[in-house]
Amino acid sequence: MKYDMMRVFICAALVGFCGGQSVAAGLLKPMKFAPTYADLPFSVRMENERAGFEDWEPEYDANGRCLRGCAYQGMSIEDDLKAMERQTQIAVAQLNQATSQTAHPAPSAVPSTQPVTATPQCTPSNPAIAAGQIYPSGEPLTGRPTITSQYGDRIHPVTKIRTPHRGIDFSVPVGTDVFSPATGTVASVWSDNTCGRGIRITHAGGFESVYCHLNSQLVKAGDTVNAGCRIGQSGNTGRTTGAHLHYGIKHNGTYVDPNNFIGR
Ligand SMILES: [Zn+2]
Repeated sequence: MKYDMMRVFICAALVGFCGGQSVAAGLLKPMKFAPTYADLPFSVRMENERAGFEDWEPEYDANGRCLRGCAYQGMSIEDDLKAMERQTQIAVAQLNQATSQTAHPAPSAVPSTQPVTATPQCTPSNPAIAAGQIYPSGEPLTGRPTITSQYGDRIHPVTKIRTPHRGIDFSVPVGTDVFSPATGTVASVWSDNTCGRGIRITHAGGFESVYCHLNSQLVKAGDTVNAGCRIGQSGNTGRTTGAHLHYGIKHNGTYVDPNNFIGR
């Protein structure tokens, strides 16, 4: 839509050149950019939002140029990854600042010394997650399963396109219990072709945790969840090559590397 308006504006400036197959029309061609999530029609974006869809995996061509879903038009994959790294550093710095302003000592970037304020009212619960902790810390699964795909740049196993992976993949069989790593509120429970059955939980300090490819979702939007409580079971839904849990962490709306929080 915006390019049509741009064309009208330029045609107005070049009166007489835009009536047919003109030189000016040819010159306008390079002004077309690869579409991004922001270019989707408003009605489609609203539809996606209502369905709980997130543009959680932007895609790039073999040269690293944005195909769709990127934060900025024309942004290269290297810039995108640098931006993510910067966001991670900012998140850790803000977390350190927030914890140093409280009476509770939490000197490490990994908030593993959160105050215990309550016992999770849930069965089963993950004994490795400290009851009452308010920031995501520790793993959303028990038994330290193998991590099969790390956060960052990779060739997507299904599309074979270079894609920044905005989370980490744990190899677990269908039906494995998934736990919230902190107290929070369920923001969204949805299903789409990419993430499959997903859950997003908001936590204190601007943190959110995201779970994809679930087999079952045991919470609903608006639910309060305690740290260490079961929220669903892993599966093989959405765009996958096998059963696994995709686990993502956002800080102030931007994905950050979950490795900074799981404490391995
Ligand atoms: Zn993943």
